[in-house]
Amino acid sequence: MKILFAASESVPFVKTGGLADVVGALAPVLAKEGHDVRVIIPQFSAIPQEYLQQMTHVCDFEVQLGWRRQYCGIEMIKKDGVTWYFMDNKYYFGRPYIYGMGGDEYERFGFFCRGALNMLPLIGFQPDVIHAHDWQSGMIPALLKIQYAHLPFYANIKTVFTIHNLQYQGIFGIREVQDILGLGDSLWTDDKLECFGCANFMKAALVYTDLITTVSPSYAEEIQTAYYGERLDGLLRARNKELFGVLNGIDMNEYDPATDKRIPVNYSLDKPEGKAECKKKLQEELGLEVNPDKLMIGMVGRLSNQKGLDLVDYVISDIMRLDVQLVVLGMGEGRYFNLFSWAETEYKGRVAARFTMDHTLAHKIYAGTDVFLMPSQFEPCGLSQMIAMRYGTIPIVRETGGLRDTVLSYNEFNGEGNGFTFFNYNAHDMLHTIERASEYYRNHADIWKTLQKRGMSGDYSWNHSAREYLKLYESLFQSKK
Ligand code: ADP
Repeated sequence: MKILFAASESVPFVKTGGLADVVGALAPVLAKEGHDVRVIIPQFSAIPQEYLQQMTHVCDFEVQLGWRRQYCGIEMIKKDGVTWYFMDNKYYFGRPYIYGMGGDEYERFGFFCRGALNMLPLIGFQPDVIHAHDWQSGMIPALLKIQYAHLPFYANIKTVFTIHNLQYQGIFGIREVQDILGLGDSLWTDDKLECFGCANFMKAALVYTDLITTVSPSYAEEIQTAYYGERLDGLLRARNKELFGVLNGIDMNEYDPATDKRIPVNYSLDKPEGKAECKKKLQEELGLEVNPDKLMIGMVGRLSNQKGLDLVDYVISDIMRLDVQLVVLGMGEGRYFNLFSWAETEYKGRVAARFTMDHTLAHKIYAGTDVFLMPSQFEPCGLSQMIAMRYGTIPIVRETGGLRDTVLSYNEFNGEGNGFTFFNYNAHDMLHTIERASEYYRNHADIWKTLQKRGMSGDYSWNHSAREYLKLYESLFQSKK
């Protein structure tokens, strides 16, 4: 099968969050199954020099945006059985940021979507399926159906659109989007492109794509409700026959405590001793009291409301009253930067916070901490809890989305479970769950070890999900015949 992924980021080239992990890991797994898999991402200036040097020029052409014509270069790297294309336009993607705050985002990603479709005949690749990810690629399914499907080259291309996070939809003024993408007035009704008086790239995709997927079965259910649906729940309910939840995996090679070069000492299920050394080294590096008995709580992720940080804010003094250390790595909202900066001073030697994008430190935290806290308000899938479990770090999560699908709370009656969870979005429920985990850590070493082992032996690989995606792609062909 010929598959084109379109996304705004992918590891190892450029990453701001889980989307990059998914694209970068899933594409090679599909390619390994014998499919012709290609990926197009923007050539952001954040892509490291070593990759820029490996790129070869494929072609260039001009993209018409309203009355303007913009240069569009296609560069290429072949890696892990996948052909990666990079869309080059310095004006749009050569900026010192990946995503801007409003501004001309509609134009940058409108250009990306148009360019991705226009390049296909020029590079001689006629995909069976275009698999577009998140709002930045959302206009691809819409443009394909509206403006390209009458052309023989495009007529049989099917689209799959994956929602990685429904909160970010790409909402803009209708006039601006019309101006650059040339979509006539008759298309701006609420059953087509219009969305509460605005243009909305994600909604456009959800209306026009052949299949919709999201990144966990629970999130697929949740987004059909008003609480999680971000005002698109009605549309998602209307299309629920074509909506599927496919759980993400993680890159089992990248995240493997037995071979990970970023952590000070390797360890595994059979030889778990190294984890204690990783904890010691982490305490030293972060200026925390070096003490193997302190329950060390880790958090890695975007500092946003989504991640449940207001719950942490609410009860941080109660958390710190427990005999624990807290390590936070993340970038995001000023409110949480202030919170954790304050906590670092207030609880000197017990709290460490770093506000950078630091993959090495992230690995060290996954390896060195005892529990991983993820009290998300909503969580499409979440990768961090799976990474933590792979490193023998026990997750404390709220039962939502992918967290609910991957973490089962320890049940003292039947002994099942691989972590600790709570259901209500409530700070004291979270606090009690931390207390519960702390109790097991201190007084039930055997159970603690069992939970660690379960986490470490879990299968978080992409194999299962890749098969599900392939089945979905194939179903499009069956319906075509
Ligand atoms: P989301 O996609 O909502 O940001 P996920 O849990 O799905 O959250 O994926 C986040 C990924 O980004 C994980 O691999 C996590 O380790 C990584 N990550 C997030 N923030 C940072 C950071 N500041 N430094 C290093 N890695 C980070």
